[in-house]
Amino acid sequence: MSSSTSLASALGNGLRKLVGKPAKASAYRLFDVQLKRIIALSPSLARFVFTGAEVGQICTLAADQRIKIFFPSANGQPPQLPRQGSWQTARRNLDAQSCPPMRTYTIRALRREALELDVDFVLHGINGPASAWATRASIGDRLQIYAPDRAFAGDPGGYEWRPPRDLRSLLLIGDETALPALAGILEHMAHAFPEVPAQVFIEVPGEEDCLELTRSPATELNWLPRGLLDAGHGEAMVHAARELARLPRPDSHARKCNALEEIDIERQILWERGAPDTGGFHAWIAGESAAVMHIRRHLIQERGLDRKTLTLMGYWRAGRSFD
Ligand SMILES: Cc1cc2nc3c(=O)[nH]c(=O)nc-3n(C[C@H](O)[C@H](O)[C@H](O)COP(=O)(O)OP(=O)(O)OC[C@H]3O[C@@H](n4cnc5c(N)ncnc54)[C@H](O)[C@@H]3O)c2cc1C
Repeated sequence: MSSSTSLASALGNGLRKLVGKPAKASAYRLFDVQLKRIIALSPSLARFVFTGAEVGQICTLAADQRIKIFFPSANGQPPQLPRQGSWQTARRNLDAQSCPPMRTYTIRALRREALELDVDFVLHGINGPASAWATRASIGDRLQIYAPDRAFAGDPGGYEWRPPRDLRSLLLIGDETALPALAGILEHMAHAFPEVPAQVFIEVPGEEDCLELTRSPATELNWLPRGLLDAGHGEAMVHAARELARLPRPDSHARKCNALEEIDIERQILWERGAPDTGGFHAWIAGESAAVMHIRRHLIQERGLDRKTLTLMGYWRAGRSFD
């Protein structure tokens, strides 16, 4: 090989190193989206259909796949976090007026070919950046979302619905913020575990929020409309767990180990993922943190359930705003 050829190939390799090497995909990344459609589902819930050139590159692995959504900042500007480099650092360096608030939501549906992604928002008033945006949103509004990237080779995580293969009975409890995930879980149950009995309790603001959900005949679906029950937020979920849920026999070994560490839900999110490949019963419970905390104590300490069978998530905290 002549020296000029080896120089050219060395230069070529160097250049490839500099510009040609494809960057490894991360599990999650930022996507720019616009609001395409709004579908009113009930007085308290609306479906927001987002689109964007790269929406076909998003992936979702389970019915409760979570994403972060960035909303317009206090100065009214749509989010414009950088798609290259660290958006986290860029966001930290923004002042309070121009920093886009971030909240967690669930992918309700993804239609890659149509470049459409559905997110169901609870409309709880003009009291937080997400709900305020959803209440006033206009078609064409631009947001950013941090979602799983299809180009990533591994499991991106960001979901907790991992039913055991030998699932024999399922308990689902949630409020309206968990309704999008619960609706997807029921659809999955209907095709993957059509024979498995599932007992489901969904607390919603009013009777008109009780939606028609696809489910298997083995599913017992119980709506808990607070307005009709004259109940405060979370009370009906707690009542369902205490009085109505069909629970397995206490696990005597688990009962001995059931000393529960406290979680300060005023500062910290309540998040406990079960490891449910160990048995036939599984519970997935999500909603307002104090209610989920109460249910956690009841199921583990008072009823002696094995905590490995329980996935418990405080999705939001009444009176608090977590970014
Ligand atoms: C994994 C995960 C998935 C989620 N998926 C969804 C989803 O698909 N759809 C959805 O609507 N929510 C979902 N949530 C809940 C959502 O992130 C919170 O409700 C969030 O607080 C809304 O932000 P905000 O800006 O409207 O209000 P914040 O600024 O967070 O709070 C402002 C005030 O509103 C109160 N508040 C917050 N949420 C509610 C509510 N739902 N009802 C009444 N008061 C409320 C707060 O306590 C506070 O007082 C999810 C949360 C998690 C952790």
